[in-house]
Amino acid sequence: LQKTTDCIFIFTPGPESRGNCFDYHLGSAYIIACLKANGFHAQQYIRNDPARLEVCTREIINFNPKIAGFTVYDSNYNISVLIADQIKKLSPRTIIVFGGPCSSVHHDFIMNTCSFVDGCFINEGEETFLEFITRLSAANFRYEETDLSSIAGLSYRQSNRIFRNPENRIWRNHSDSRNFLDNFPSPYLSGVIPPEEGHNAGILTARGCNQNCVYCNCAVLSNRKISTHSVERVISELDFISHFLKGNQILTFQDDTFTLIPNRAAEICKVITDHRIKVRLSCITRCDCVDESLLDKMKEAGFVSLTFSLESAIPKILRKIGKVHVAEDFPSDSMEKEIRFIESFNRVAAYAKKIGINSIITSVMVGLPGESLSEANQTIEAVDRNSNIDHYSHNFLKIFKGTPLSIDYEKYGYKLRYLNNNPVFVRMTYPEDFVRKVFISPKSHLHSLKKDNDKSSLNILSLIPQNKGVPGFSNIILQADHVQGEFVKWLKEILDINGTIIQLYSGEKAINSLSDSNYEKFIKYSSPSLNIRNYYLEESGDARLLLSSESVLLKSYSESENIKICGIGQIRSGLENPAVKFMKTLAREENHKDSVAAHSLLCEVGRAKNPFLFLTGKKALPYFANMCKWTRNLANCVARKTLIINEKNEVRFCWYGSVTGSVGQSYKEIISCLDSEIQKTKNRRDCARCKEESNCIKCPFPFPLPEAEYCEDKKTTDTIRAAELIIGLDQIKQIFY
Ligand code: SF4
Ligand code: SF4
Repeated sequence: LQKTTDCIFIFTPGPESRGNCFDYHLGSAYIIACLKANGFHAQQYIRNDPARLEVCTREIINFNPKIAGFTVYDSNYNISVLIADQIKKLSPRTIIVFGGPCSSVHHDFIMNTCSFVDGCFINEGEETFLEFITRLSAANFRYEETDLSSIAGLSYRQSNRIFRNPENRIWRNHSDSRNFLDNFPSPYLSGVIPPEEGHNAGILTARGCNQNCVYCNCAVLSNRKISTHSVERVISELDFISHFLKGNQILTFQDDTFTLIPNRAAEICKVITDHRIKVRLSCITRCDCVDESLLDKMKEAGFVSLTFSLESAIPKILRKIGKVHVAEDFPSDSMEKEIRFIESFNRVAAYAKKIGINSIITSVMVGLPGESLSEANQTIEAVDRNSNIDHYSHNFLKIFKGTPLSIDYEKYGYKLRYLNNNPVFVRMTYPEDFVRKVFISPKSHLHSLKKDNDKSSLNILSLIPQNKGVPGFSNIILQADHVQGEFVKWLKEILDINGTIIQLYSGEKAINSLSDSNYEKFIKYSSPSLNIRNYYLEESGDARLLLSSESVLLKSYSESENIKICGIGQIRSGLENPAVKFMKTLAREENHKDSVAAHSLLCEVGRAKNPFLFLTGKKALPYFANMCKWTRNLANCVARKTLIINEKNEVRFCWYGSVTGSVGQSYKEIISCLDSEIQKTKNRRDCARCKEESNCIKCPFPFPLPEAEYCEDKKTTDTIRAAELIIGLDQIKQIFY
């Protein structure tokens, strides 16, 4: 990347992102390609490793950008605001602008509440941004002296006043928007997005949607118009990218509805096949915009995954949301269209499955206008019974500003509450308690979400060491019912952007009554992450269960479905029993007996002819926390990536470790406190003169094992190979579980 630029575009990660990465974004790549074609230096800020606010901001400022442009969605709004504010503080001359769906909808709120934002772009950015930067460049980037009036689609601040220019209707006003998008250079062919990133960023064949669904913000943002690329342009991008995709990687068409113009979709598929382009494709579309012949062409072209949006299988509800016919509360006819829509959904799903398209997905929306709980259940049961549907996304209706429903939602009994008075963060109350009462089929994405979250939480809770990377904590484990403002403010200094926060509540009552107000505090005090997982502890026989907020929703309260925490001593005999399933068990050394059991297991593994087979022969092994103390250097107190914080604001690196800091201390202070604890330990034990010095991790907190016993075991037995093998297996299990 070039180290000085006219404009840097930033797409901050949010809770729905791939880890902590600052990824390529297709929308901003279109703008960058336009700017580059017109002689400006523009690039995206890309970061593949986690980093704290301070590190990211410094790196962005080091590009000396004249403009920093943020691509903002509701999900990454908080982090975008946080980084933008920091850039302005450290580099007041950098012009900060927001674009993307959130900016298009909430520009008034952003301009009124974020004084560090100089401008908000509304709707498509290519031509507006080009005009913006051209005028600034002509004024040598003296922002206050640049005439920004009459740039359509811009709201801006000058001399502490906010101006709102007329709406941008660039392609919507063209009488023929066919192939209009070809006016913009390809982000891939112009080198803005590397082709090997195609499976992450996707491609676009058309923008916009002309349908009438009353809840949909895509249709609102495109003003119900469609603009397309030519078939030739789509094919040239696809052909280029296809040579760089590996194995099972799938390229997604990011169009709102790919087959909205079926003939055009058929032509694209035919040319892909004729040109023998080998690529695995996916898209979202409507069941009434495909038929058997188009599905055959799509299969031949390489489609392996299709999503048909359904929302409801009740004709009356489909009419109310305007899915097929203009929305009506009281149907004016026999609802033939809706009945046909549901029939075509079943027919095309069956046909797509029959011809071998691997993954058929749909979406269901719960809590639609006028819908009863029993009608919502009927829709989900229909999807559940339909063997041609592999998965569905289980969504709850949200009301987006600007949609028809945002005007008359009150008549359906919905109530909206803005968290922290911020319209980006809306909490909805439905006329019935859909969220907790509705049936959730095993095909719902909520099950896979819970599984993925639990898996990653097990990784964090077992303190499995992670890549060291740049200094900063990637994970916080908060053992408290209440979140305090000071705690959230402190996270900005120590936690990586979009790092994981696991909050462990004392019980179900606490999680239910406090999680919303805690979330509001994370927003209010600008948390560097809203990637928050809520769990509560429940005693269950001789173990404790960790139930997530998803467990409550999915009504899964059993040991087999949730994370179980118990002492190693307890599970020792179970290890020999093939019938016992340990996949989600976290075994810890909680008392002296556990430590003895852990040590004897390590000795046994060490004596085995083939330690790997010895361990894997034990069926599903649990996760072992505290194994790190028996290794050479695999531990959280070495990698320093996870912090444990309790109700008293005390900070620890290890479940049973001493307090090594408190909330409010700087990153450096916490690290130096740990370093001094380690040094004191080494001096006390006289490690420098120990024969194990180079092989021993010198665990500063071997509790519950007395220090002398720990050293004795370390000196008399070889635990390293066995412990490191167990930790390695914990990491491998992450892939398969
Ligand atoms: S203090 Fe000991 S048990 Fe804790 S992370 Fe470090 S080595 Fe592991
Ligand atoms: S065995 Fe004890 S004394 Fe020896 S290096 Fe390890 S911690 Fe230090």
